[in-house]
Amino acid sequence: MTEKCGVVGVALDGRDAARPLYYALYALQHRGQESAGIVTHDGFQQHSHVDRGLVGDVFDEGDLEGLTGSAGIGHVRYPTAGSLDTSCAQPFSVSFKSGSLGLSHNGNLVNADEIRDELAALGHAFTSDGDTEVIAHDLARNLLEEDLIRAVKRTMGRIHGSYALTISHDETVLGVRDPQGNRPLCIGKLEDGYILASESAAIDTLDGELVRDVRPGELVVLDADGGGFDSYQLVDEDNTAHCFFEHVYFARPDSVIDDTLVYEARRELGRKLWTESGVETDVVMPVPDSGRAFASGYAEAAGETTPDGEARPEDDDGVEFAEGLMKNRYVGRTFIMPTQDERERAVRLKLNPIKSTIEGKTVTVIDDSIVRGTTSTQLVQLLKDCGAEEVHVRIGAPPIVAPCYMGIDMATREELIAADKDTDEIREAIDADSLAYLSTDSVADVLEAERDDLCLGCVTGEYPYDIEDEESDRDVVRPELEGRTMHADD
Ligand code: SF4
Repeated sequence: MTEKCGVVGVALDGRDAARPLYYALYALQHRGQESAGIVTHDGFQQHSHVDRGLVGDVFDEGDLEGLTGSAGIGHVRYPTAGSLDTSCAQPFSVSFKSGSLGLSHNGNLVNADEIRDELAALGHAFTSDGDTEVIAHDLARNLLEEDLIRAVKRTMGRIHGSYALTISHDETVLGVRDPQGNRPLCIGKLEDGYILASESAAIDTLDGELVRDVRPGELVVLDADGGGFDSYQLVDEDNTAHCFFEHVYFARPDSVIDDTLVYEARRELGRKLWTESGVETDVVMPVPDSGRAFASGYAEAAGETTPDGEARPEDDDGVEFAEGLMKNRYVGRTFIMPTQDERERAVRLKLNPIKSTIEGKTVTVIDDSIVRGTTSTQLVQLLKDCGAEEVHVRIGAPPIVAPCYMGIDMATREELIAADKDTDEIREAIDADSLAYLSTDSVADVLEAERDDLCLGCVTGEYPYDIEDEESDRDVVRPELEGRTMHADD
């Protein structure tokens, strides 16, 4: 499962924005490792540097020096819509009649093809098959007829899906979150300006202060002199659709998203997991690093109550928390495993067990999700090979039963183990002694949200957007395109 993208935008008082953007992208690197880019504007012209690779590889000193100007936007990308080449790397930038435009997008539009067809019929030439270029062309077209705020509003009325955008229009930097706030975006104050970023960890990296989340349907416009920002609530929806997986898996634990510190949310989910399905074993251990906060919350709750919810006697410490698996941090995405046998051994390259914490013991192992089930199967086998007497698996989220259309690279329905197997069948398939997932109610409880204000599409199969051939869990319809006509300047 892979997060899509991270976006950032900065407006400063006189100082070049390139270096703060670069550091912010470093802080957001976990959200995308395929490509990175920065677009700045110096008052006269736009500068852009975008390439494939990690942030540290994409920019050198000379690149940063060439990105002059005190305002700009940046992007790290993992491709979800569009092909895997530099034409889809971002920020997307274009110069047109009413100025220069840069666009960074996190999310996925579900009606991009309709809009692309319409604009292509009007003569727009597209250089990529990504949905970001569709937004950029639509906005550029609207800017021929409207002021910036109205142009953004009009584009928002036409696109359907998830988006957190940072946009530069000449020296003006804007941030927009889709009307249901599916993807995160927050505002921060820096010593000499303001920043918009996917996660607050980027603001911390620049010694800034988190001001607040951008509200769903809100447009934030940073003052070009870094002195403040203006807010325009362009669209109001009854419900939000925050992606709950941001808190479970994607976001950095040290980020605050929609008012909740991710680390605390994960610990609380772990506590709930104990309350719902705790099992007394000799040790509880995380799958590093994703399961760590869940396991620490789970072990803490296990120290307070028994699995039946009774308070523990003073001399009973509950389940021991232990690190039983060591992660090899140097196995990257590019690791090549040509044969099935080698693929099956992959878990040994990524994780190595600490025998003394496992041998002869009953073990609970905690992770955040099971996607295809391959890793879980290998993990259970690994622990058993290492001498575990029993292996119980606990997952800090509900079973993933359906794909994500909002920009997460998850798996197809056919590949998802929970799409056609119930929990006991999955337990059997991964050969665990027991298996339990967290309930959706507990997820909503921990995130202090109504179920109707979360996106739970991948765990319920019902989505908060209008997606072709899929059920929706609320009353949503994709916008009718108004049928554009040729503009006088076309
Ligand atoms: S379907 Fe799942 S991963 Fe995708 S946005 Fe919704 S909650 Fe997040």
